[in-house]
Amino acid sequence: RLGGLHDPADGWTPTQLEMETPSVARMYDYLLGGKDHLSVDRERADEAVTADPLFPRVVRENRAFLARVVRFLAEEHGIDQFLDIGTGLPTQDNVHQIAQRYNPHAQVVYVDNDPVVLSHGRALLANNDKTTVITADLREPESLLDHPDVKRLIDFERPVALLLLAILHFVPDHQDPHGILDRLRDALPSGSFLAVSHGCPDLRPDVVHRLEEIYSRTASPAKARTRDEVQRFFGDFEMVEPGLEWVPWWRPETEPGEDADLVWFLGGVGRKP
Ligand code: SAH
Repeated sequence: RLGGLHDPADGWTPTQLEMETPSVARMYDYLLGGKDHLSVDRERADEAVTADPLFPRVVRENRAFLARVVRFLAEEHGIDQFLDIGTGLPTQDNVHQIAQRYNPHAQVVYVDNDPVVLSHGRALLANNDKTTVITADLREPESLLDHPDVKRLIDFERPVALLLLAILHFVPDHQDPHGILDRLRDALPSGSFLAVSHGCPDLRPDVVHRLEEIYSRTASPAKARTRDEVQRFFGDFEMVEPGLEWVPWWRPETEPGEDADLVWFLGGVGRKP
């Protein structure tokens, strides 16, 4: 038994191709210390950790950023609808758990294009009528926005939080990430929020380019982007303090620990005017 992946009760058995190709969702789960990964995922993730021994830390800091963002939006801005694209596998403190802690009525739609997220998510994320998980692709924003579960749980007449955390680096320039973002920002009413985190080469270019090479040998090749490129994803949204920042320094709740200045993910939150 490899993690939970071969358990027929999970409703998903990987195809030959999925078993042979590292999945970034399963690698992320492995890096976070989860249990849903195959040897092919572990091998590629271990390569990444060799290239940057701090990589598991970077991933944990991204996850901590996600938790602070959801809390900030639910608690301080009363946001009660979350569209989380690129959800990843269920782990501790998922978006709906954090949001519903501050607002029991918060509704969450989880979106991912990896089938393993759907099968595990169905069991662990969608256990209440305010939360669901669907399979859709960020690169097809029209069909994503038209999905019946999105329409059922998200009211686009009221402020929405759109979460795009650690996913945009999987959309290369030739797939028009800026056009996709224009479409998604357009769909949101005034007072909505967009949260983004993204790998960025500015801090440690050699390490980050080495990781891009390693991720080019997965199902989802990754491209890190400069601060200016990541900022562009927010369009005319007004950045919440402190703006686009290295994730450990985005509204930290405790003093960022040792090596926090080596964490090469940027994160920020913008509000639609
Ligand atoms: N947002 C979570 C998980 C990030 S891992 C977090 O920040 O903790 C990135 C996730 O994005 C993976 O689960 C992967 O399957 C998903 N993903 C990558 N490309 C995608 C696409 N084009 N459409 C939907 N999901 C995608």
